[in-house]
Amino acid sequence: RPTIGVLALQGDVAEHVHVLETLGADTVKVLSADRLDSVDGLVIPGGESTTMSKLAVRYDLMEPLRKRVANGMPVYGTCAGMIMLADRVLGGTADQETVGGIDMTVRRNAFGRQTESFETGVHVDGIGEDPFDAVFIRAPWVESVGPQVRVLGRVPGTDEAGRIVAVRQGGLMATSFHPELTGDTRIHRLFVDIVKGHP
Ligand code: GLN
Repeated sequence: RPTIGVLALQGDVAEHVHVLETLGADTVKVLSADRLDSVDGLVIPGGESTTMSKLAVRYDLMEPLRKRVANGMPVYGTCAGMIMLADRVLGGTADQETVGGIDMTVRRNAFGRQTESFETGVHVDGIGEDPFDAVFIRAPWVESVGPQVRVLGRVPGTDEAGRIVAVRQGGLMATSFHPELTGDTRIHRLFVDIVKGHP
C-alpha cells in the first residue's frame, strides 16, 4: 500500500483523504517536513493558493516541498494545488511563491466572474473514454506549457484549441477542477498508479 500525503495547510483536505482511502492508499495529513518525509506521493488540494503559499513558507514546508519534487516525488495538484505546481503564475499577488515543478504558466481565476463555478464533461487522457464530470470553482486554466508537459484535457474556451485544464509532467499531475467532489475516482486512481510506479 502506498502512503499518500495530503498537504493540510488549507483547503479541501478531507475530501481527498476520503477518495484516496477508498482506493486503498494509506493517507497522512502533511503539516510538517517530518510528515512530508514519510509519504510516497502527495496531493495538494484546492483552496486559496496565495494563502496556501504563505502558510507553506510559515510552516517551513516550501523548501522541503521543492526538494521532494526535484527528487521525483509524485504530486497531484487540484485547482489551487495546480497553481502551487506551476512554474509561472498570472493574476497572482506580486510575491506569490509556488512549489513549481510543472513547466507551465497558469492564470488564476481565469474563467471570469460570470462563470465562477460550473460543471462540464471533460475528456481526460489516460482514464478511459467516458468524459469526466468536472467541477470548476474559481478555477485557473493553463495558459501555456513547455515541451515536457503532456496536455491531458481541455475545455472549450476563448481560443480555438480550448483551454488546458489537465496536465502531466513525469510524476507531477494537475487539474483545474476538483475530482474529489464528484465521486468519480478515475483521476485519483491514475495518480495512485503513478505513485505505485506503474503509470
Ligand atoms: N481561485 C483560487 C486560487 O487562485 C483557487 C480556487 C480553488 O482551489 N477552488 O487560489
